[in-house]
Amino acid sequence: MIDFRTQQGGTAAITPERIDALRTALRGNLVLPDEPGYDAARTLWNAMVDRRPAAVVRAAGAGDVIQAVKFAGENRLLLAVRGGGHNIAGKATCDGGLMLDLSAMKSVRVDPALGTARVEPGALLSDFDRETQAFGLSTPTGINSTTGMAGLTLGGGFGWQSRKRGLTIDNLLGVDVVLASGEFVQASPTQNADLFWAVRGGGGNFGVVTSFEYRLHKLGPEVLAGLIVYPIEQARQVFEGYRAFTASAPDEMTAWLVMRKAPPLPFLPASVHGTEVVVLAFCWIGEASQGNELAAQLRRFGTAAGEHVGAMPFAAWQTAFDPLLERGARNYWKSHDFKTLNVDVERILCEAIGRLPTAECEAFIGHLGGAVNRVPTDATAYPHRDVEYVINVHTRWRDSSDDARCIDWARQLFDALAPHATGGVYVNFMPEDEAQRVAAGAYGPNYARLGALKAKYDPANLFCLNQNIRPQA
Ligand SMILES: Cc1cc2nc3c(=O)[nH]c(=O)nc-3n(C[C@H](O)[C@H](O)[C@H](O)COP(=O)(O)OP(=O)(O)OC[C@H]3O[C@@H](n4cnc5c(N)ncnc54)[C@H](O)[C@@H]3O)c2cc1C
Repeated sequence: MIDFRTQQGGTAAITPERIDALRTALRGNLVLPDEPGYDAARTLWNAMVDRRPAAVVRAAGAGDVIQAVKFAGENRLLLAVRGGGHNIAGKATCDGGLMLDLSAMKSVRVDPALGTARVEPGALLSDFDRETQAFGLSTPTGINSTTGMAGLTLGGGFGWQSRKRGLTIDNLLGVDVVLASGEFVQASPTQNADLFWAVRGGGGNFGVVTSFEYRLHKLGPEVLAGLIVYPIEQARQVFEGYRAFTASAPDEMTAWLVMRKAPPLPFLPASVHGTEVVVLAFCWIGEASQGNELAAQLRRFGTAAGEHVGAMPFAAWQTAFDPLLERGARNYWKSHDFKTLNVDVERILCEAIGRLPTAECEAFIGHLGGAVNRVPTDATAYPHRDVEYVINVHTRWRDSSDDARCIDWARQLFDALAPHATGGVYVNFMPEDEAQRVAAGAYGPNYARLGALKAKYDPANLFCLNQNIRPQA
Protein backbone atom coordinates (compact mmCIF):
# COMPACT_ATOMS: atom_id res chain seq x y z
CA MET A 1 0.00 0.00 0.00
CA ILE A 2 1.05 3.58 -0.59
CA ASP A 3 -0.29 6.09 1.92
CA PHE A 4 -1.48 9.39 0.48
CA ARG A 5 -2.63 12.41 2.40
CA THR A 6 -6.23 13.34 1.72
CA GLN A 7 -7.63 16.81 1.27
CA GLN A 8 -9.22 16.55 4.72
CA GLY A 9 -5.90 15.74 6.38
CA GLY A 10 -6.53 12.00 6.71
CA THR A 11 -4.81 9.10 4.96
CA ALA A 12 -5.85 7.09 1.90
CA ALA A 13 -4.09 3.78 1.31
CA ILE A 14 -3.75 3.16 -2.44
CA THR A 15 -2.76 -0.27 -3.72
CA PRO A 16 0.32 -0.63 -5.93
CA GLU A 17 -2.00 -2.06 -8.62
CA ARG A 18 -3.97 1.19 -8.79
CA ILE A 19 -0.76 3.21 -8.98
CA ASP A 20 0.43 0.96 -11.79
CA ALA A 21 -2.88 1.36 -13.61
CA LEU A 22 -2.53 5.14 -13.45
CA ARG A 23 1.09 4.92 -14.59
CA THR A 24 0.10 2.78 -17.56
CA ALA A 25 -2.66 5.16 -18.58
CA LEU A 26 -0.27 8.11 -18.83
CA ARG A 27 1.62 9.40 -21.86
CA GLY A 28 4.03 11.07 -19.46
CA ASN A 29 5.15 9.28 -16.30
CA LEU A 30 4.43 8.75 -12.64
CA VAL A 31 7.30 9.10 -10.21
CA LEU A 32 7.46 7.73 -6.66
CA PRO A 33 9.86 9.07 -3.98
CA ASP A 34 12.65 6.60 -4.69
CA GLU A 35 12.48 6.98 -8.47
CA PRO A 36 14.57 9.17 -10.82
CA GLY A 37 13.10 12.61 -11.46
CA TYR A 38 11.27 12.84 -8.13
CA ASP A 39 13.48 15.51 -6.58
CA ALA A 40 13.60 17.57 -9.76
CA ALA A 41 9.82 17.59 -9.94
CA ARG A 42 9.14 18.49 -6.31
CA THR A 43 11.83 21.17 -5.99
CA LEU A 44 10.48 24.69 -6.45
CA TRP A 45 12.08 28.11 -6.95
CA ASN A 46 11.74 29.04 -3.29
CA ALA A 47 14.12 26.89 -1.21
CA MET A 48 11.97 27.57 1.88
CA VAL A 49 9.62 24.97 0.42
CA ASP A 50 10.81 21.38 0.85
CA ARG A 51 7.85 19.01 0.60
CA ARG A 52 7.56 15.39 -0.35
CA PRO A 53 4.50 14.33 -2.31
CA ALA A 54 3.55 10.63 -2.22
CA ALA A 55 3.66 10.56 -6.02
CA VAL A 56 4.22 12.94 -8.93
CA VAL A 57 2.42 12.73 -12.26
CA ARG A 58 4.63 14.35 -14.87
CA ALA A 59 2.02 15.14 -17.49
CA ALA A 60 2.72 15.11 -21.21
CA GLY A 61 -0.64 16.50 -22.28
CA ALA A 62 -4.25 17.24 -21.37
CA GLY A 63 -5.01 13.51 -21.37
CA ASP A 64 -2.58 12.96 -18.51
CA VAL A 65 -4.06 15.90 -16.63
CA ILE A 66 -7.53 14.35 -16.94
CA GLN A 67 -6.20 11.03 -15.59
CA ALA A 68 -4.44 12.67 -12.64
CA VAL A 69 -7.34 14.95 -11.69
CA LYS A 70 -9.81 12.03 -11.82
CA PHE A 71 -7.50 9.88 -9.73
CA ALA A 72 -7.09 12.59 -7.10
CA GLY A 73 -10.81 13.42 -7.07
CA GLU A 74 -12.01 9.82 -6.82
CA ASN A 75 -9.62 9.09 -3.97
CA ARG A 76 -10.03 12.53 -2.35
CA LEU A 77 -6.26 13.03 -2.46
CA LEU A 78 -4.53 16.27 -1.64
CA LEU A 79 -3.60 17.63 -5.07
CA ALA A 80 -0.89 20.15 -5.93
CA VAL A 81 -0.52 21.63 -9.43
CA ARG A 82 2.83 22.88 -10.71
CA GLY A 83 3.35 25.16 -13.70
CA GLY A 84 6.71 26.94 -13.64
CA GLY A 85 7.21 26.22 -9.92
CA HIS A 86 8.05 29.87 -9.23
CA ASN A 87 5.35 31.02 -6.84
CA ILE A 88 6.64 32.45 -3.57
CA ALA A 89 3.94 30.62 -1.56
CA GLY A 90 5.22 27.28 -2.84
CA LYS A 91 1.83 25.59 -3.11
CA ALA A 92 2.79 23.76 -6.29
CA THR A 93 4.03 20.84 -4.18
CA CYS A 94 2.75 19.18 -1.02
CA ASP A 95 3.57 16.68 1.68
CA GLY A 96 2.03 13.28 1.12
CA GLY A 97 -0.39 14.20 -1.66
CA LEU A 98 -0.41 13.84 -5.44
CA MET A 99 1.62 16.43 -7.31
CA LEU A 100 0.62 17.18 -10.90
CA ASP A 101 3.74 18.52 -12.58
CA LEU A 102 3.05 20.31 -15.88
CA SER A 103 6.61 21.49 -16.44
CA ALA A 104 7.24 19.14 -19.38
CA MET A 105 4.33 20.71 -21.32
CA LYS A 106 6.30 23.62 -22.80
CA SER A 107 5.01 24.11 -26.32
CA VAL A 108 4.58 27.67 -27.61
CA ARG A 109 2.97 27.87 -31.05
CA VAL A 110 2.78 31.28 -32.73
CA ASP A 111 0.23 31.94 -35.47
CA PRO A 112 1.74 35.01 -37.15
CA ALA A 113 -1.22 35.47 -39.48
CA LEU A 114 -3.73 35.65 -36.64
CA GLY A 115 -1.28 37.31 -34.23
CA THR A 116 -1.91 34.73 -31.51
CA ALA A 117 0.08 32.18 -29.52
CA ARG A 118 -1.03 28.85 -28.02
CA VAL A 119 1.01 28.09 -24.92
CA GLU A 120 1.20 25.01 -22.71
CA PRO A 121 1.30 25.45 -18.93
CA GLY A 122 4.89 24.34 -18.36
CA ALA A 123 6.30 27.10 -20.57
CA LEU A 124 8.42 29.70 -18.80
CA LEU A 125 8.52 33.36 -19.78
CA SER A 126 11.87 32.62 -21.48
CA ASP A 127 10.20 29.97 -23.68
CA PHE A 128 7.44 32.41 -24.58
CA ASP A 129 9.82 35.34 -25.22
CA ARG A 130 12.21 33.40 -27.43
CA GLU A 131 9.46 31.91 -29.55
CA THR A 132 7.28 35.01 -29.96
CA GLN A 133 10.20 37.39 -30.45
CA ALA A 134 11.42 35.29 -33.38
CA PHE A 135 8.27 36.67 -35.05
CA GLY A 136 8.75 40.20 -33.62
CA LEU A 137 5.67 39.62 -31.46
CA SER A 138 4.91 39.56 -27.74
CA THR A 139 2.28 40.14 -25.06
CA PRO A 140 2.61 41.57 -21.54
CA THR A 141 4.13 39.13 -19.02
CA GLY A 142 6.50 39.51 -16.04
CA ILE A 143 10.07 40.75 -15.60
CA ASN A 144 11.94 37.56 -14.69
CA SER A 145 12.29 35.03 -17.46
CA THR A 146 12.33 31.92 -15.26
CA THR A 147 8.74 32.57 -14.08
CA GLY A 148 6.04 30.20 -15.35
CA MET A 149 3.49 31.49 -17.86
CA ALA A 150 0.70 29.49 -16.19
CA GLY A 151 0.79 30.79 -12.63
CA LEU A 152 1.63 34.30 -13.79
CA THR A 153 -1.33 34.40 -16.16
CA LEU A 154 -3.81 32.86 -13.72
CA GLY A 155 -3.05 35.57 -11.14
CA GLY A 156 -3.14 38.48 -13.63
CA GLY A 157 0.40 39.06 -14.90
CA PHE A 158 2.20 42.36 -15.41
CA GLY A 159 5.57 43.65 -16.53
CA TRP A 160 7.21 46.05 -18.98
CA GLN A 161 4.39 46.14 -21.54
CA SER A 162 1.40 46.28 -19.21
CA ARG A 163 0.95 50.05 -19.03
CA LYS A 164 0.55 50.03 -22.82
CA ARG A 165 -1.23 46.72 -23.34
CA GLY A 166 -2.80 45.69 -20.05
CA LEU A 167 -2.28 42.66 -17.88
CA THR A 168 -1.45 39.25 -19.30
CA ILE A 169 -5.10 38.27 -18.71
CA ASP A 170 -6.27 41.31 -20.67
CA ASN A 171 -4.57 39.66 -23.65
CA LEU A 172 -5.86 36.16 -22.96
CA LEU A 173 -8.25 34.93 -25.65
CA GLY A 174 -9.16 31.51 -24.31
CA VAL A 175 -8.08 28.54 -22.24
CA ASP A 176 -8.48 24.76 -22.18
CA VAL A 177 -9.34 23.60 -18.68
CA VAL A 178 -9.65 20.25 -16.90
CA LEU A 179 -12.29 20.73 -14.22
CA ALA A 180 -12.35 19.04 -10.80
CA SER A 181 -14.76 16.47 -12.27
CA GLY A 182 -12.12 15.51 -14.84
CA GLU A 183 -14.22 17.03 -17.62
CA PHE A 184 -12.29 18.92 -20.31
CA VAL A 185 -13.82 22.27 -21.30
CA GLN A 186 -12.84 25.37 -23.19
CA ALA A 187 -13.43 28.85 -21.87
CA SER A 188 -13.41 32.16 -23.72
CA PRO A 189 -15.68 35.21 -24.02
CA THR A 190 -18.15 33.00 -25.92
CA GLN A 191 -17.73 29.59 -24.23
CA ASN A 192 -18.14 29.08 -20.48
CA ALA A 193 -17.71 32.84 -20.11
CA ASP A 194 -18.15 32.69 -16.33
CA LEU A 195 -15.22 30.27 -16.04
CA PHE A 196 -13.17 32.48 -18.35
CA TRP A 197 -13.92 35.44 -16.06
CA ALA A 198 -12.81 33.44 -13.01
CA VAL A 199 -9.52 32.11 -14.39
CA ARG A 200 -8.44 35.66 -15.28
CA GLY A 201 -7.07 36.40 -11.82
CA GLY A 202 -8.63 33.59 -9.79
CA GLY A 203 -5.40 31.57 -9.73
CA GLY A 204 -5.57 27.79 -9.90
CA ASN A 205 -8.89 27.62 -8.06
CA PHE A 206 -11.14 26.59 -10.93
CA GLY A 207 -9.36 23.82 -12.81
CA VAL A 208 -6.09 22.85 -14.42
CA VAL A 209 -5.41 24.96 -17.50
CA THR A 210 -3.76 22.84 -20.17
CA SER A 211 -3.50 25.52 -22.86
CA PHE A 212 -3.57 29.32 -22.99
CA GLU A 213 -4.26 31.37 -26.13
CA TYR A 214 -2.88 34.92 -26.14
CA ARG A 215 -3.29 37.92 -28.41
CA LEU A 216 0.14 39.10 -29.60
CA HIS A 217 1.41 42.58 -30.42
CA LYS A 218 4.34 43.81 -32.48
CA LEU A 219 7.34 44.44 -30.24
CA GLY A 220 10.99 45.21 -30.96
CA PRO A 221 12.78 42.88 -31.29
CA GLU A 222 14.87 45.75 -29.80
CA VAL A 223 13.64 48.05 -27.04
CA LEU A 224 15.30 50.90 -25.14
CA ALA A 225 15.89 49.67 -21.63
CA GLY A 226 18.33 49.64 -18.78
CA LEU A 227 19.39 50.48 -15.26
CA ILE A 228 20.43 53.80 -13.74
CA VAL A 229 21.99 53.41 -10.30
CA TYR A 230 22.04 56.20 -7.69
CA PRO A 231 23.75 56.19 -4.28
CA ILE A 232 21.28 55.90 -1.37
CA GLU A 233 22.27 59.41 -0.19
CA GLN A 234 20.31 60.74 -3.20
CA ALA A 235 17.22 58.67 -2.38
CA ARG A 236 15.03 61.70 -1.55
CA GLN A 237 15.61 63.48 -4.87
CA VAL A 238 15.43 60.25 -6.91
CA PHE A 239 12.19 59.33 -5.18
CA GLU A 240 10.72 62.80 -5.84
CA GLY A 241 11.84 62.60 -9.47
CA TYR A 242 10.33 59.15 -9.79
CA ARG A 243 6.99 60.28 -8.37
CA ALA A 244 6.76 63.19 -10.82
CA PHE A 245 8.02 61.14 -13.75
CA THR A 246 5.62 58.25 -13.27
CA ALA A 247 2.68 60.62 -12.77
CA SER A 248 2.99 61.79 -16.37
CA ALA A 249 4.95 59.06 -18.17
CA PRO A 250 3.45 57.83 -21.44
CA ASP A 251 2.06 54.29 -21.41
CA GLU A 252 5.01 53.05 -23.47
CA MET A 253 7.36 53.87 -20.57
CA THR A 254 7.58 51.68 -17.48
CA ALA A 255 10.07 52.51 -14.75
CA TRP A 256 10.46 50.52 -11.53
CA LEU A 257 12.47 51.68 -8.53
CA VAL A 258 14.54 49.18 -6.59
CA MET A 259 16.33 49.81 -3.29
CA ARG A 260 19.00 47.32 -2.27
CA LYS A 261 22.74 46.77 -1.93
CA ALA A 262 24.52 47.13 -5.28
CA PRO A 263 25.48 43.78 -6.81
CA PRO A 264 28.96 43.62 -8.39
CA LEU A 265 27.69 44.79 -11.78
CA PRO A 266 30.49 45.49 -14.29
CA PHE A 267 29.23 49.00 -15.11
CA LEU A 268 29.48 50.11 -11.45
CA PRO A 269 32.77 51.19 -9.84
CA ALA A 270 34.04 48.59 -7.35
CA SER A 271 33.62 51.14 -4.56
CA VAL A 272 29.84 51.06 -5.11
CA HIS A 273 29.53 47.27 -4.92
CA GLY A 274 27.82 46.22 -1.70
CA THR A 275 26.65 49.75 -0.83
CA GLU A 276 22.97 50.74 -0.61
CA VAL A 277 21.63 52.14 -3.88
CA VAL A 278 18.43 53.25 -5.57
CA VAL A 279 18.08 51.67 -9.00
CA LEU A 280 15.77 52.85 -11.74
CA ALA A 281 15.00 49.96 -14.08
CA PHE A 282 13.06 51.00 -17.15
CA CYS A 283 11.81 49.79 -20.50
CA TRP A 284 10.50 51.97 -23.32
CA ILE A 285 8.46 50.16 -25.98
CA GLY A 286 7.66 53.18 -28.17
CA GLU A 287 9.44 55.14 -30.87
CA ALA A 288 13.20 55.53 -30.18
CA SER A 289 13.77 59.32 -30.06
CA GLN A 290 11.05 59.96 -27.47
CA GLY A 291 12.46 57.10 -25.39
CA ASN A 292 15.93 58.67 -25.39
CA GLU A 293 14.49 61.96 -24.15
CA LEU A 294 12.63 60.14 -21.33
CA ALA A 295 15.78 58.21 -20.38
CA ALA A 296 17.61 61.55 -20.18
CA GLN A 297 14.95 62.74 -17.69
CA LEU A 298 15.60 59.69 -15.50
CA ARG A 299 19.32 60.58 -15.53
CA ARG A 300 18.61 64.08 -14.23
CA PHE A 301 17.20 62.85 -10.90
CA GLY A 302 20.71 63.03 -9.41
CA THR A 303 24.33 62.06 -10.08
CA ALA A 304 24.29 58.39 -11.00
CA ALA A 305 26.94 55.99 -9.74
CA GLY A 306 26.66 54.15 -13.05
CA GLU A 307 24.25 53.06 -15.73
CA HIS A 308 23.68 50.42 -18.35
CA VAL A 309 21.18 51.84 -20.84
CA GLY A 310 20.68 51.26 -24.54
CA ALA A 311 18.81 49.50 -27.29
CA MET A 312 18.77 45.78 -26.63
CA PRO A 313 16.75 42.73 -27.69
CA PHE A 314 13.58 42.56 -25.59
CA ALA A 315 14.16 38.84 -24.93
CA ALA A 316 17.60 39.70 -23.50
CA TRP A 317 16.20 42.51 -21.30
CA GLN A 318 13.70 39.98 -19.96
CA THR A 319 16.63 38.00 -18.54
CA ALA A 320 18.36 41.05 -16.98
CA PHE A 321 17.26 40.22 -13.43
CA ASP A 322 17.60 36.44 -13.68
CA PRO A 323 21.09 36.29 -12.11
CA LEU A 324 19.76 38.00 -8.96
CA LEU A 325 16.76 35.69 -8.79
CA GLU A 326 18.15 32.23 -9.37
CA ARG A 327 16.37 29.33 -7.73
CA GLY A 328 17.79 27.77 -4.60
CA ALA A 329 17.71 30.72 -2.15
CA ARG A 330 15.28 31.05 0.73
CA ASN A 331 12.68 33.75 0.00
CA TYR A 332 9.87 35.51 1.84
CA TRP A 333 7.82 38.34 0.32
CA LYS A 334 5.28 40.90 1.45
CA SER A 335 3.39 43.17 -0.93
CA HIS A 336 1.09 46.20 -0.88
CA ASP A 337 -0.85 48.09 -3.55
CA PHE A 338 -0.73 51.91 -3.63
CA LYS A 339 -2.64 54.66 -5.41
CA THR A 340 0.00 57.31 -4.65
CA LEU A 341 3.47 57.48 -3.12
CA ASN A 342 4.22 60.05 -0.43
CA VAL A 343 7.28 61.24 1.50
CA ASP A 344 6.48 58.93 4.39
CA VAL A 345 6.75 55.93 2.06
CA GLU A 346 10.16 57.16 0.93
CA ARG A 347 11.28 57.70 4.55
CA ILE A 348 10.07 54.24 5.62
CA LEU A 349 11.80 52.53 2.69
CA CYS A 350 15.10 54.38 3.27
CA GLU A 351 15.08 53.56 6.94
CA ALA A 352 14.50 49.86 6.20
CA ILE A 353 17.17 49.74 3.48
CA GLY A 354 19.62 51.02 6.06
CA ARG A 355 19.22 47.77 8.00
CA LEU A 356 18.88 45.10 5.28
CA PRO A 357 19.19 41.65 6.87
CA THR A 358 21.20 40.24 3.94
CA ALA A 359 22.81 41.62 0.79
CA GLU A 360 20.18 39.91 -1.38
CA CYS A 361 17.16 41.61 0.21
CA GLU A 362 15.42 44.50 -1.50
CA ALA A 363 12.30 46.60 -1.78
CA PHE A 364 10.92 47.57 -5.15
CA ILE A 365 8.25 49.87 -6.48
CA GLY A 366 6.54 48.62 -9.63
CA HIS A 367 4.59 51.09 -11.75
CA LEU A 368 1.17 50.00 -13.08
CA GLY A 369 -1.64 52.33 -14.20
CA GLY A 370 -2.07 52.98 -17.92
CA ALA A 371 -3.98 50.32 -19.85
CA VAL A 372 -4.23 48.09 -16.76
CA ASN A 373 -6.52 50.68 -15.18
CA ARG A 374 -8.69 51.20 -18.25
CA VAL A 375 -10.42 47.85 -17.61
CA PRO A 376 -13.46 47.80 -15.28
CA THR A 377 -12.95 46.21 -11.84
CA ASP A 378 -15.56 43.54 -12.53
CA ALA A 379 -14.36 42.67 -16.06
CA THR A 380 -11.99 39.99 -14.73
CA ALA A 381 -11.45 38.29 -11.37
CA TYR A 382 -8.33 40.47 -10.87
CA PRO A 383 -9.87 43.55 -9.23
CA HIS A 384 -7.06 46.09 -8.67
CA ARG A 385 -7.81 48.40 -11.58
CA ASP A 386 -7.15 51.65 -9.73
CA VAL A 387 -3.68 50.79 -8.45
CA GLU A 388 -0.73 52.89 -9.64
CA TYR A 389 2.12 51.27 -7.72
CA VAL A 390 2.98 47.96 -6.11
CA ILE A 391 5.64 47.82 -3.41
CA ASN A 392 7.22 44.45 -2.79
CA VAL A 393 9.44 43.59 0.13
CA HIS A 394 11.72 40.80 -1.03
CA THR A 395 13.75 39.02 1.60
CA ARG A 396 16.24 36.53 0.26
CA TRP A 397 18.89 34.58 2.15
CA ARG A 398 20.75 31.26 2.15
CA ASP A 399 20.93 29.93 5.69
CA SER A 400 17.89 28.67 7.61
CA SER A 401 19.33 30.17 10.79
CA ASP A 402 18.53 33.58 9.24
CA ASP A 403 14.82 32.74 8.72
CA ALA A 404 13.43 34.64 11.70
CA ARG A 405 15.64 37.71 11.22
CA CYS A 406 14.78 38.05 7.53
CA ILE A 407 11.07 37.38 7.90
CA ASP A 408 10.87 39.87 10.79
CA TRP A 409 12.48 42.57 8.66
CA ALA A 410 9.94 41.97 5.87
CA ARG A 411 6.99 42.04 8.25
CA GLN A 412 8.17 45.21 9.99
CA LEU A 413 8.60 47.05 6.71
CA PHE A 414 5.23 45.76 5.49
CA ASP A 415 3.52 46.95 8.71
CA ALA A 416 5.16 50.37 8.51
CA LEU A 417 3.95 50.83 4.92
CA ALA A 418 0.42 49.58 5.59
CA PRO A 419 -1.17 52.94 6.58
CA HIS A 420 -0.21 54.36 3.16
CA ALA A 421 -1.38 51.37 1.09
CA THR A 422 -4.82 50.47 -0.33
CA GLY A 423 -5.13 47.21 1.62
CA GLY A 424 -5.20 45.33 -1.69
CA VAL A 425 -2.62 42.82 -2.84
CA TYR A 426 -1.76 41.06 -6.10
CA VAL A 427 -2.48 37.39 -5.47
CA ASN A 428 0.75 36.27 -7.17
CA PHE A 429 2.89 38.20 -4.68
CA MET A 430 1.35 36.66 -1.54
CA PRO A 431 3.39 34.34 0.66
CA GLU A 432 2.04 31.13 2.13
CA ASP A 433 0.93 32.63 5.46
CA GLU A 434 -1.55 35.20 4.15
CA ALA A 435 -4.78 33.17 3.81
CA GLN A 436 -6.56 35.91 5.78
CA ARG A 437 -5.83 38.42 2.96
CA VAL A 438 -7.37 36.38 0.12
CA ALA A 439 -10.99 37.54 0.39
CA ALA A 440 -10.68 41.27 1.06
CA GLY A 441 -7.08 41.90 -0.01
CA ALA A 442 -6.65 39.85 -3.17
CA TYR A 443 -10.22 39.86 -4.51
CA GLY A 444 -12.28 42.51 -2.67
CA PRO A 445 -15.46 43.25 -4.61
CA ASN A 446 -15.03 40.18 -6.84
CA TYR A 447 -14.72 37.63 -4.02
CA ALA A 448 -18.43 36.81 -3.65
CA ARG A 449 -18.78 36.04 -7.36
CA LEU A 450 -15.60 33.95 -7.25
CA GLY A 451 -16.96 31.98 -4.28
CA ALA A 452 -20.16 31.21 -6.19
CA LEU A 453 -18.19 30.09 -9.26
CA LYS A 454 -15.95 27.96 -7.05
CA ALA A 455 -19.09 26.23 -5.77
CA LYS A 456 -20.17 25.62 -9.38
CA TYR A 457 -16.83 24.39 -10.78
CA ASP A 458 -15.05 22.90 -7.75
CA PRO A 459 -17.62 22.35 -4.98
CA ALA A 460 -15.41 19.93 -3.01
CA ASN A 461 -12.42 22.29 -3.24
CA LEU A 462 -10.16 19.73 -4.91
CA PHE A 463 -8.02 22.68 -6.06
CA CYS A 464 -7.26 23.91 -2.55
CA LEU A 465 -3.48 24.31 -2.76
CA ASN A 466 -3.45 27.91 -3.94
CA GLN A 467 -4.52 31.24 -2.47
CA ASN A 468 -7.78 29.50 -1.80
CA ILE A 469 -11.25 30.77 -2.67
CA ARG A 470 -13.86 28.92 -0.61
CA PRO A 471 -16.91 27.50 -2.40
CA GLN A 472 -19.89 29.63 -1.39
CA ALA A 473 -23.55 29.02 -2.04
C1 LIG B 1 11.44 36.18 -8.92
C2 LIG B 1 10.00 36.39 -9.27
C3 LIG B 1 9.64 37.41 -10.13
C4 LIG B 1 8.30 37.63 -10.44
N1 LIG B 1 7.96 38.65 -11.28
C5 LIG B 1 6.66 38.84 -11.62
C6 LIG B 1 6.29 39.87 -12.52
O1 LIG B 1 7.11 40.62 -13.02
N2 LIG B 1 4.98 40.00 -12.83
C7 LIG B 1 4.03 39.19 -12.31
O2 LIG B 1 2.86 39.36 -12.65
N3 LIG B 1 4.36 38.20 -11.45
C8 LIG B 1 5.65 38.02 -11.10
N4 LIG B 1 5.98 37.03 -10.21
C9 LIG B 1 4.91 36.25 -9.58
C10 LIG B 1 4.51 35.11 -10.47
O3 LIG B 1 3.54 35.58 -11.37
C11 LIG B 1 3.92 33.98 -9.61
O4 LIG B 1 4.93 33.50 -8.77
C12 LIG B 1 3.35 32.87 -10.45
O5 LIG B 1 2.44 32.14 -9.68
C13 LIG B 1 4.40 31.93 -10.98
O6 LIG B 1 3.82 30.99 -11.83
P1 LIG B 1 4.45 29.53 -11.96
O7 LIG B 1 3.65 28.79 -12.96
O8 LIG B 1 5.91 29.63 -12.19
O9 LIG B 1 4.24 29.03 -10.48
P2 LIG B 1 3.77 27.67 -9.80
O10 LIG B 1 4.39 27.72 -8.45
O11 LIG B 1 4.04 26.49 -10.64
O12 LIG B 1 2.23 27.86 -9.72
C14 LIG B 1 1.63 28.74 -8.82
C15 LIG B 1 0.24 28.23 -8.51
O13 LIG B 1 -0.57 28.39 -9.68
C16 LIG B 1 -1.41 27.26 -9.85
N5 LIG B 1 -1.15 26.71 -11.16
C17 LIG B 1 0.03 26.66 -11.82
N6 LIG B 1 -0.16 26.17 -13.05
C18 LIG B 1 -1.47 25.91 -13.18
C19 LIG B 1 -2.29 25.42 -14.23
N7 LIG B 1 -1.80 25.12 -15.42
N8 LIG B 1 -3.61 25.29 -14.00
C20 LIG B 1 -4.14 25.61 -12.79
N9 LIG B 1 -3.42 26.08 -11.78
C21 LIG B 1 -2.10 26.23 -11.97
C22 LIG B 1 -1.16 26.35 -8.67
O14 LIG B 1 -2.11 26.67 -7.66
C23 LIG B 1 0.20 26.76 -8.18
O15 LIG B 1 0.37 26.56 -6.81
C24 LIG B 1 7.31 36.79 -9.89
C25 LIG B 1 7.67 35.77 -9.03
C26 LIG B 1 9.00 35.57 -8.70
C27 LIG B 1 9.35 34.49 -7.73
